[in-house]
Amino acid sequence: MPIPKCLKETPRNGQTLPPVTGVSLPSGLEGALEGALAMLALGGAQEAGTTARVTLDGSLGPEAYEIDCSEEGVAVRAGGEAAAVYAAATLRQLAAEHGGRLPCCKVEDAPRFGWRGLSLDVCRHFFPIGTVYRLVDLMAYYKYNRLHLHLSDDQGFRFESERYPLLNDVGSYRASTLKKRGSAAAQDGVRHGGYYRKRELRALVRYAKARGIEIVPELDLPGHALAILAAYPALACYTEPVEVATYFGVSDFSKKLFCAGSGQTFTFLCSLLDEMLEVFPFEYVHIGGDEAVKAEWKRCPNCQQVLREQGLKNERELQGYLLNRVSAFLKERGRRAIVWNDGLCGNLDPEAVTQFWMPFFGESARTARRINAGGRAIMSHCLHVYYDYPYALTPLVKTYRYEPCLRKIRAKGAANVLGVEAAVWTEWIDSEEKLFFNVLPRLAATAETGWAAQNGRRYPDFLRRLLPHYALYEALGLNYARFAEKPVSLLQRIRGIFTFFARDTHAELLQDASEARKQHKN
Ligand SMILES: [Zn+2]
Repeated sequence: MPIPKCLKETPRNGQTLPPVTGVSLPSGLEGALEGALAMLALGGAQEAGTTARVTLDGSLGPEAYEIDCSEEGVAVRAGGEAAAVYAAATLRQLAAEHGGRLPCCKVEDAPRFGWRGLSLDVCRHFFPIGTVYRLVDLMAYYKYNRLHLHLSDDQGFRFESERYPLLNDVGSYRASTLKKRGSAAAQDGVRHGGYYRKRELRALVRYAKARGIEIVPELDLPGHALAILAAYPALACYTEPVEVATYFGVSDFSKKLFCAGSGQTFTFLCSLLDEMLEVFPFEYVHIGGDEAVKAEWKRCPNCQQVLREQGLKNERELQGYLLNRVSAFLKERGRRAIVWNDGLCGNLDPEAVTQFWMPFFGESARTARRINAGGRAIMSHCLHVYYDYPYALTPLVKTYRYEPCLRKIRAKGAANVLGVEAAVWTEWIDSEEKLFFNVLPRLAATAETGWAAQNGRRYPDFLRRLLPHYALYEALGLNYARFAEKPVSLLQRIRGIFTFFARDTHAELLQDASEARKQHKN
């Protein structure tokens, strides 16, 4: 999982091999040792087995690999370090599917897309770094290569800043949290927050890199910035004090933006980004651009002055102007900006990568136009790969069948789609139990979207191959949606969606747990 490009079992008298528990790596691939051993031992070390001999094959792509399991042993040819880690994950999975033994077989494998990501929101609820490590392990096992960390939002700022300590003292904590959707008064009254220390994040970056995964940090602007503006109110158009949000969604409280007409804003953003770039070495940096309600910019004399001076058509282009200045700063440092698709505008730097999530209000067509004109994009359609949505709204089959494309993308534009990225937003996910319930087994489904050829995969076959993975989740002590594959009627789905949005965001989890208890008794 994801299904390899080509897998041929070559049994001789039904002979099987002991599982692979070690690897020998040539010079040039030593960096893969930690990740490969971690993959082979994921879910508990197996009894001593064989050692795979890995060789470097420059004719393969950097993520491509081939495996030959025969009576002579296990040989792997890898195009690069990540490929050697992926080969180890495949060997571990083959053994898990065959009762702990390896079948004699040949595997040829390479990914369909170069970008296979998961985005994690650690702002709406803060998760200990150990949770992120557990996700990274599974992502590597499923051959993902990008972890996008959503580090700033209205409800909390999660990156340790030495230059701006109030970001942590003030911006990383909120006084309370909304308990129930749509009912402003339903607050739990419990202080919530936290942030990752730079040394923790550097260690995470190294750990993920050893498993073939690069980390993309996100500093969301100009909206979703209330936690930062609570710490430094002078960065907003109107500087009255605000608090870190205790509500979710986009409404009155989130109408405060960074002032696009103030030099102070740019000094602050570039200085803070400099701190982030020191910790996150990967080329790509997400700068948000989503869901920014521009009412304050319409009134702010400084913003309006810039709008006139720069000859901008409207506030949407003013946002483009702001994002462009930040994007230009990133380019000077050899980095590239990613922007959410609802932040696209005519004047936006054509080199900024679009992350498509929002298909409504003409945004799909706008995104497709940009892609057809040469703009690169990552596909994250919210109705298919937003893992925080209930299974009633986004069943596993819908996630599995997601094709990361848009109807209006023409053939020559298709090459500009870098790949797929799932996301898990955590407004209603306040525990690791709930997090993994929403992520598993969806993570396996999107892995296949990003890796396997479109015509090589079938949902019923996926479900059959998924079964041994449930045992892995249990061995790792991770919660998962046990009955996500069960088909449900339209009526049940409508009822489930209503329950999630109007009554109880945890109902599916509770129902799943009680069904599991029942099955256990039987
Ligand atoms: Zn302003």
